[in-house]
Amino acid sequence: MIKRKKNTLPEAGLETAEAVFGGNPILDNIVRLIGSFGFNQIVPPPIAEEKIFTQDRALERHFGQNIIRIDHPSEHLVLSPTQLLNVFKLYSQNLKNRGPFVAKWFYISPTVRSEGNQFTISHELGVFVIGEDGSLANIELINAVTQVFSGLGVKESIAEITSRGCKACQTNYREVLRDYLDKTETVLCGNCRRDMAGENILSVFDCQTQTCRSVLMSSPQLIDFLDDSCRTTLVDALETIDGLEIPYVLNANLSNHLAEEKILFRINVPGGTEEKVLGAGGNYSKLISRHFGEGAAPMLGFFTNLEELVQAVPEDRRTPLNAVEVFIIPLGVIACRRALALYRELRDAGLKVAEAMLGNQSIKHQLKEAADHHSEIALIVGQKEAMEETVILRDMRSGMQELFTNERVLDEVKKRLGK
Ligand SMILES: [Zn+2]
Ligand SMILES: [Zn+2]
Repeated sequence: MIKRKKNTLPEAGLETAEAVFGGNPILDNIVRLIGSFGFNQIVPPPIAEEKIFTQDRALERHFGQNIIRIDHPSEHLVLSPTQLLNVFKLYSQNLKNRGPFVAKWFYISPTVRSEGNQFTISHELGVFVIGEDGSLANIELINAVTQVFSGLGVKESIAEITSRGCKACQTNYREVLRDYLDKTETVLCGNCRRDMAGENILSVFDCQTQTCRSVLMSSPQLIDFLDDSCRTTLVDALETIDGLEIPYVLNANLSNHLAEEKILFRINVPGGTEEKVLGAGGNYSKLISRHFGEGAAPMLGFFTNLEELVQAVPEDRRTPLNAVEVFIIPLGVIACRRALALYRELRDAGLKVAEAMLGNQSIKHQLKEAADHHSEIALIVGQKEAMEETVILRDMRSGMQELFTNERVLDEVKKRLGK
């Protein structure tokens, strides 16, 4: 069911978004970290066709209640509650031009959900491997996600992993599960009883009703009905993950409504009394083939809520990750002009440079910024130095300062950085 909304955006939602993304260095860190694993950032469109979310049972079930329709005279469009299908659309457009390829992509995108009379704005980080879904592709995704989390300082994350098998495995298992549930039908909720009747019987694992969950806790497990191929893929993946020392547990009862087949996983972090789920992913190929045809390329994905991820990053790790080699500190207007020229010179020489000359120009403030950026060297240009065409080179570790002429400073910086 899709509701039409006319409300304006509430302040609260926007404030939350700004608190997280108003210049928060974590966002920059995430982009850098994921990029360092060979994933390219993409920008999916914000809208999608309404029928995608009304005609697909799995999508309708998960997003139908919270979708926002766009008033448009000729098209039936919604604000995309997930970018999953938009991402695959981008991939298939690329496929036409490039021919077969494996895409490693990620996005950071706002998502808007309608809840009662309110809108909630949050941000989603989606990470994808498209074009391959063997054990190596799964490992690449799980490895990248867990490494990004630990790179951000999120401690003690654990991957829960299982396999939901392929079509063949599921066909066998469905009957076993149906037999089991037939005996317990009376305590299952209405939704699950409806699921039991048809092809969607595996959806009972997505049910959050406590009674259904407890019935399923002791049900036969799909993992015991995997065929050779699915079993090998899972075992391969688990062995490699173990070898990479990624903490994981095999959880046969894991489910993820949209990742309907093969390997699926989620990442947990300790939080309060129980573990907190910090994102989930898996193989979305079956969903994709319903929308893009049977021969569509396989798609692995991982999704996390950025606000929750930022919450999990410890206070002392909310600083820029990118080590800056040289930090330029000008003092005064004339010095700033000289600093901009110096900045360009150093960048052209291939050095990682940063500055913080706008706003608070006190030397104390700028030195703190240099330290926050883990700079090895600060180049200080005062009024006097700018006039005399000199620069003060400060070793950020020892605090030792030395004066150099403009001509000599680049060579000296390179020498000290071992370049
Ligand atoms: Zn199988
Ligand atoms: Zn149920």
